Amino acid sequence: MQQRTQLKAACGCHAPSRRAVLVGLACSLALPRAASAFAPASTSDDVRFMRMALDEAQHADFPFGAVIVREGAVIARGANHGRTRRDPTAHGEMVAIRNAVESPGADALKGATLYTTGEPCPMCMGAIIWCHIGRVVYAASIDQLATLMDQIMVPSAEIAARATFAPVSITGGVLADEAMALFRERMAKLRVAERP
Ligand SMILES: [Zn+2]
Repeated sequence: MQQRTQLKAACGCHAPSRRAVLVGLACSLALPRAASAFAPASTSDDVRFMRMALDEAQHADFPFGAVIVREGAVIARGANHGRTRRDPTAHGEMVAIRNAVESPGADALKGATLYTTGEPCPMCMGAIIWCHIGRVVYAASIDQLATLMDQIMVPSAEIAARATFAPVSITGGVLADEAMALFRERMAKLRVAERP
């Protein structure tokens, strides 16, 4: 348990093991009707780009990797570097977004799709919304990630539903089993490495 708490804050960003298709919609109940009006199902392209995000995750501090795609081409990549950069905000999505802002520039993010191995945390989801990224595709959900590490338990769909000015659709669960296998393996190694 102690070790587990030491491994906190890995998030890149979390939900169910089944292939879930969520959207800003999900929280339609009490939330303002917003963001995403529909949740596109995953496609073969989604699987292809998620594999790239998983590749990024291989050399991350915590296995959160992200790629940003525009018109079928990758415009930026990112991996979690929270420890090596001593920057708790260096989540995979944030690093990818910063890389995209540097080049090709923030305008290219508008309407782009971000693929990430873990559901975006509130910080990353906020950045995604402010950058007007149009779609998010994630593998492991916050609920799934929370079985392995600390997570802020607010679903990305809930945040999207509250930001009516920037619609973003969300597809979850793409290659979630592969991502979770990677998370389990890496977190187990980190626990061993940090054992006193
Ligand atoms: Zn995050």
